[in-house]
Amino acid sequence: MAATDTPRTRITWDYAPAPESSDHVRLRDTYGLFIGGAFVDPRDGQRVASINPATEEPVAEVTFGGAEDVAAAVAAARAAQARWAALPGRERAKYVFRIARLIQERSRELAIVESLDGGKPIRESRDVDIPLAAAHFFHYAGWADKLRYGVGGRDAAPYGVVGQVVPWNFPLLMAAWKLAPALACGNTAVLKPAETTPLTALLLGEICQEAELPDGVVNIVPGDGTTGAALVRSEVDKIAFTGSTAVGKDIQAALAGRGMGLTLELGGKSANLVFEDAAIDQAVEGIVQGIFFNQGHVCCAGSRLLIQESVAEEVTGKLWDRMRLLRVGDPLDKNTDVGAINSAEQLERIEALVESGVQEGAVRRSIACDLPERGWWFAPTIFTEVAPAHRIAVEEIFGPVVSVLTFRTQAEAIEKANNSRYGLAAGIWTDKGSKAFEVARALKAGVIWQNTYNKFDPTAAFGGYKESGFGREGGAAGLRPYLRVS
Ligand code: NAD
Ligand code: MN
Repeated sequence: MAATDTPRTRITWDYAPAPESSDHVRLRDTYGLFIGGAFVDPRDGQRVASINPATEEPVAEVTFGGAEDVAAAVAAARAAQARWAALPGRERAKYVFRIARLIQERSRELAIVESLDGGKPIRESRDVDIPLAAAHFFHYAGWADKLRYGVGGRDAAPYGVVGQVVPWNFPLLMAAWKLAPALACGNTAVLKPAETTPLTALLLGEICQEAELPDGVVNIVPGDGTTGAALVRSEVDKIAFTGSTAVGKDIQAALAGRGMGLTLELGGKSANLVFEDAAIDQAVEGIVQGIFFNQGHVCCAGSRLLIQESVAEEVTGKLWDRMRLLRVGDPLDKNTDVGAINSAEQLERIEALVESGVQEGAVRRSIACDLPERGWWFAPTIFTEVAPAHRIAVEEIFGPVVSVLTFRTQAEAIEKANNSRYGLAAGIWTDKGSKAFEVARALKAGVIWQNTYNKFDPTAAFGGYKESGFGREGGAAGLRPYLRVS
């Protein structure tokens, strides 16, 4: 054998388990509804177990509110609203700051509970969800005494009582996106967390108590779609919703003609565009971050990967090599990249769409990995040979699945990217600043990242076009939906 063929050193190794300890987490066995500043028993709601999707074991018992519970929460919010709005902005700010500080203080516990209840990797809940949730409260605390500056110097008044329905993909972070601006602007709120992930919202209820927030300013009523539908039809002044386009349409219909405020943050099928002049290795990292972050349960996920034909083979080859290094498994392990799928229902949706991709003729590759016996899992998957009309190129999969399409020219890239009923986000990978700006201007998407993906910041507005909804969250733009401006 020639000397050059001799492998120099071959080290085979694997990661040692690195489980985050959950000893210090103190969950109650059972949680009531957080109404009027206290955890109360349901009137017509019922107790259900909240499940850990990685083990299918219960984490704690919670209460799903019925219509009477929702009405009681709205009444508590109504009773608290005038005094809350009458506080000077700097006083409201103190409470919102306190909530932010308490989230930081309890961040380790919150991160673990987020991962236990929802299945996301602890690395993400620890480094993204919880710090960003605190950052949102900090940001809007700063706005509370400057509202006029946020609306061009005009007079602004709170809406009153707002109903807020959030999804299961970023449970505490979405609660923060909704509550922080609402409170800063002088509204009181009834928040409905998603059915599979109510626990961190309930801990946020405890934090509101610790912050000595006046009773009734924040009310938290977990539940499923029935509870959400009851909140939408209750005596609130505004609804803020994040979730599926189907439910968004139902809410819009229910509110029609009632003169209420409404913001909808719905689904997406966001295009991530890689041009031939991009730094390919960085782009591959960005593609991975764009679609496999949070198991792809991300409304703005870069799920349609559009690659310029001249580099398509190189990019998909490198992407596949990188994907094979992803570690799928125990969400509480600090080395895990991809955790559990949030629910059995969501896993079924992913499997059905992936099956349709195979049936329609796209080429599927899923990485080989040992998936745990219990719980809900899906191996990171890439589809090539995808046609624009395939369901996997059109519909939101909301899982760790990327569909690859190609383009030849910039004009074709723009046309294909905009060929969607959604318009939430997009990514552009190119070395040329002028090209990035030109393409960004032509894309019909609310958030556009250049040479990065899935970066979030409380100062930046987030929201969509077309069936991705309307209204903006984050930054000064995020004040508008919580104020009546005259
Ligand atoms: P969903 O829209 O049904 O649930 C989102 C929230 O709305 C939950 O809190 C739910 O309890 C509540 N809800 C359900 N029906 C309601 C109704 N009629 N009135 C008021 N509230 C209601 O979403 P899902 O069923 O959990 O997921 C389905 C699909 O939606 C996913 O596969 C994904 O494509 C999409 N989704 C998008 C987002 C996002 O961030 N944009 C979040 C979750 C799901
Ligand atoms: Mn759960």
